[in-house]
Amino acid sequence: MPELPEVEITARRLDAALRGAQIESAQAPGLNALKTFDPPLAGLADRTISAVGRRGKQLVVEVSGELVLLVHLMSAGRLQLYDKRAGPRDRTSRLLVRFAGGRELRLREFGTKQAAWVKLLHADQLDADEMLATLGPEAWPQPPQDLRALLKAARPLHTLLRDQRVIAGIGRSWVDEILWTARLSPFKRGNDLDEDDAATLREAIVSTLDGAIEHYEQVVKLPIPDKLPLPLQVHRKSGEPCPRCGETIEAVHYEDYVMCYCPGEQTGGKVLKDRRLSRLLK
Ligand SMILES: [Zn+2]
Repeated sequence: MPELPEVEITARRLDAALRGAQIESAQAPGLNALKTFDPPLAGLADRTISAVGRRGKQLVVEVSGELVLLVHLMSAGRLQLYDKRAGPRDRTSRLLVRFAGGRELRLREFGTKQAAWVKLLHADQLDADEMLATLGPEAWPQPPQDLRALLKAARPLHTLLRDQRVIAGIGRSWVDEILWTARLSPFKRGNDLDEDDAATLREAIVSTLDGAIEHYEQVVKLPIPDKLPLPLQVHRKSGEPCPRCGETIEAVHYEDYVMCYCPGEQTGGKVLKDRRLSRLLK
């Protein structure tokens, strides 16, 4: 589930490895991965990579300063660089960009869903792309000073912070870590934050994402592994003791994800209703 820190380290590693590399050819074997047809993918041939960067959770591969590949990994995609080309039986690749000398940049996707996507755009179309144009301010490295203005909605923090149109980069894993770091309830409403809460939350966003990126700087090398070693303290740790206070980490199960929190420090001891259990009991 790549979020801002995972996409950031991917962009940094690919940028260091690919800047100046000459593209030989590009193809999109994935059925629906390529969302654009003009400019054509074949137009990448003989051009060079000028930079690899990040916007929110999207990767931006700049080519010859004129074209950009905008890549959204969704939940199960990875953008990885290999020394050799994929074999004929490879079923995970959605996009292949081949370089002189045999290296290959692959957008791969695991699982049965084909959700990851790519757009090839002219550089000057990038900002107007509907995905990027609707992104909120970046969560890192400098989220807006006034989080109360940004989060002024009657929605719980754990959904607000994951809404890319509100703030860009945070998803299911890091929202749990951020709210735990800030000792805030995931169900506290954005418009109930007082000034101290907002300052604490901002600090938690910066320190948590900083910490994750620092960790990846130490441990992630090329080729970027399929599964990054997420330095998590509470997310996916339901039933384990809170590393700070020792209380048992609780979870709320939703249809397709699990939210974890420490009741001792975040909800005043209250264990939140488990949506999965309450639905089964109906
Ligand atoms: Zn705790």
